Amino acid sequence: MNKLLNSLSNLLFPNLCVCCDAYLTFQEEAICDLCYHRLPKFENYLNAENSVSKKFWGRLKLEYASSYLQFSSNNDVRNILHEIKYKENHNLGIEMGKVLGRAMIKIPQLTNADVIIPIPLHPKREIERGYNQSNLIALGMSQVMGQIVSADKKRYERFINSSEIFKVVTPQVLKNKHVILIDDVITTGATIEACGNALLEVEGLKLSVVSLAVAI
Ligand SMILES: [Zn+2]
Repeated sequence: MNKLLNSLSNLLFPNLCVCCDAYLTFQEEAICDLCYHRLPKFENYLNAENSVSKKFWGRLKLEYASSYLQFSSNNDVRNILHEIKYKENHNLGIEMGKVLGRAMIKIPQLTNADVIIPIPLHPKREIERGYNQSNLIALGMSQVMGQIVSADKKRYERFINSSEIFKVVTPQVLKNKHVILIDDVITTGATIEACGNALLEVEGLKLSVVSLAVAI
């Protein structure tokens, strides 16, 4: 029945690819297969010494750091991030999270992690926007990787309070846990560094960092 309803609504309101505006088939979600395969991948993501992890050398003690896509100001990755961040395209956020999960599940250091935490938005910004885009990515990723997301709103607010300074509110919940911190795109890494340092104050906590895209 659901399938039938989906098909009908697709006839009335056809879904278009967010990158090229082509009509999507029933199997495609948000982005057509052609555009998906053309997305510039961050080639080095399976290698522990990649340029994302190198960004944090001497700044954060990490178990693993990686991204899946390569961001630039004139490629489709930028369009995708824009849709997720400003156009309320929640479906695309979750789908891209699954894509990210299918890549990261190949990395043993990440599959043994306990919990996924999306980097918190400034509370004021989250109220304005109504959602946190990194949360969508984390949700999709957890569906593939199996770890819990601590961003289900109420729990997550107890974990971390975001302002200019990050603070872990209930460190006992994260004690001795391996946390994967999720961001949509890493540029300078400054926000990750600030949030990561707050998390690393928790006793026995191990930290990894994963983002959908990276600007190199
Ligand atoms: Zn397309």
